Amino acid sequence: MAYDDQNIFARILRGELPAIKVYEDDQVLAFMDIMPQADGHTLVIPKTPAVTLLDLPADAAAYTIQIVQKIAKAMQQALGVDGIVLMQLSGTSAGQTVPHVHFHLIPTSVHQLGKHAAQMGDQDKIKAQAEKIKAAL
Ligand code: 5GP
Repeated sequence: MAYDDQNIFARILRGELPAIKVYEDDQVLAFMDIMPQADGHTLVIPKTPAVTLLDLPADAAAYTIQIVQKIAKAMQQALGVDGIVLMQLSGTSAGQTVPHVHFHLIPTSVHQLGKHAAQMGDQDKIKAQAEKIKAAL
């Protein structure tokens, strides 16, 4: 599938759309999910344009997973959670809705996972969670 540079995450990366960011460097951005499946639901995306993990060059994938680990540790500390569901959907048939590769970090149990991309979260509450995660980084 060809990469669509008008997808929502590409627009967030270019600063055309807002996002509640928790971490950014020259290769990766981490920000809060707008429709969280649990409190603290965070997304980590490589800046390399790729639709799915399968399209992402291996070095970018390796670096992104290092940042996923870093953010997960900060989430554990900041939010006082133990388990984190790490979810990565590759392809629309897997349920992927935004065609730019991303990792979901969802502080919950797989048995309690909320509905996927279904309901807008409380933005003030999400901002407060982001501040806690940033402080723990
Ligand atoms: P996917 O279905 O592609 O694995 O996940 C896409 C995720 O992006 C969903 O969890 C959805 O809630 C989130 N999302 C969709 N649009 C936006 C947006 O404009 N901003 C943010 N921060 N998250 C979004």
